[in-house]
Amino acid sequence: MVFRLSASYAVIAIALLSFFGAFLYWSLKESLEISARNTLADKISVMRQILHERPNDQEALEEEVQWESTARRRSVYYSRLLQDNGTLVIQSTGAQELIPELLLCPSPAAEDRSIGDTREFHPSPDRTLLISSAWIASEGSGKLALDKPQRFIYTVALDTTTEQNILHDYRNKLLLVLIAGSVISAVAGTYVARQGIRPIREISAAAHRITASDLAERVGSMAWPRELASLAAEFDAMLQRLEDSFQRLSQFSADIAHELRTPINNLMGEAEVALTRERTSKEYASVIASSLEEYHRLAELIDSLLFLARAENADLSLQKSWFRVADELAQLLSYHELQATESEVTLSFSGDARLFADSTLFRRAIGNVVSNALKHTPPGGTVTVEVAALPDAVKILIKDDGVGIPPEHLPRLFDRFYRVDASRAAAMAGTGLGLAIVKTIVDLHGGSVTIESELGEGTLVTLVFPVPPGVKEQERQPVASVVVRE
Ligand code: ATP
Ligand code: MG
Repeated sequence: MVFRLSASYAVIAIALLSFFGAFLYWSLKESLEISARNTLADKISVMRQILHERPNDQEALEEEVQWESTARRRSVYYSRLLQDNGTLVIQSTGAQELIPELLLCPSPAAEDRSIGDTREFHPSPDRTLLISSAWIASEGSGKLALDKPQRFIYTVALDTTTEQNILHDYRNKLLLVLIAGSVISAVAGTYVARQGIRPIREISAAAHRITASDLAERVGSMAWPRELASLAAEFDAMLQRLEDSFQRLSQFSADIAHELRTPINNLMGEAEVALTRERTSKEYASVIASSLEEYHRLAELIDSLLFLARAENADLSLQKSWFRVADELAQLLSYHELQATESEVTLSFSGDARLFADSTLFRRAIGNVVSNALKHTPPGGTVTVEVAALPDAVKILIKDDGVGIPPEHLPRLFDRFYRVDASRAAAMAGTGLGLAIVKTIVDLHGGSVTIESELGEGTLVTLVFPVPPGVKEQERQPVASVVVRE
């Protein structure tokens, strides 16, 4: 990451420096070239003026070609004036060696153009001349010994060695800036990238410190850059969730161990006592029978735990189908009829509705609540189940006029292994998982469960199962079975 960031940073810096360097170099070259062309055009224009206006002014011609050119300190130039048949009229000192023959010069500009093509020429490796030629017409006589109009070719060579040196120098400096800039930007880029990802390193160091046994680490208190603050907050929230579920899990494991220890101790105690001496087969049979009861309870406990674990891992597929609630209740309550008759409690139900749910889980949930009601209602009491069809849900109310539950226990009734009174629970042999399972089943269906109770008056448990929206009435066939995986 650091390498990639700093490499991209350096590449961008190099590209920008090269672009600006090339642009500056090009504009300087352009300016120098324009200025050289202007000088050449000037010279051509002066010669045209002389030949047009004063064709017989020999002095002016010599002044311009021989003295003016080489007397300058800057923009030294050499010139050569030829007749159109190639005869030399006059040339600057040194022009002989420096100006190439006519064929190698750029073609002369027409009379009406101030300057034509230019060409660079190197008489020696460290010397540069910029050459241009032009046609000049004259009507004079005199030194030129002409009495009829005559055309000339005027060639001017401007010494641009200084400009070339300046350009060369400039290019070297630009290269130096480019190399230094690249190195600096690579170093600075690495530093900036390292600084930039330091917070990420800190988060990963914090993540490294976290183990299952120590989830107390938090990163939110550090001073994060704005972009990473939400990541840090999410990270902390995730740790909090993990810590909570770890805590719940370890509490749950402790509870399970505790719950299993009691029946196993009972079994061990009974077996040990039975083995202290020789027993009759009847006595052995009674020990086995009572053990069997304990085994049943253990099996039930394990079954409940398994159910909760599967529901929690979303490992449970709901076999949803349409059914009549009254049909299921009639079947369910007939199971509890015996228990109700034994404890002299009247058990009844009323109402009906159609419900789209997992019928097995539905029976299990209602069964748990009904069995609680029966367990806690003294002889002569009543337990009623009432079904109410709401527009988008089915409500089941299970009411008893039994012992009731003290208000301080109400919020925790749906916790696993929670029993109101341990001694009472021991006598009634409940596992404390019944209502936790009810809640899980209702949650799986997207519904809700509430419990209201008054001590000595009775208890009311309300379960609400939503009817999925968008399902038409005619599709509500009792036989239609849809498997919904949640
Ligand atoms: P299990 O249902 O697994 O056999 P359980 O009945 O003890 O065990 P839950 O069904 O979760 O466990 O009930 C939790 C506690 O709530 C029970 O111990 C009981 O004291 C109390 N309780 C539940 N329903 C009633 C009720 N209708 N009247 C009075 N107390 C109740
Ligand atoms: Mg119960």
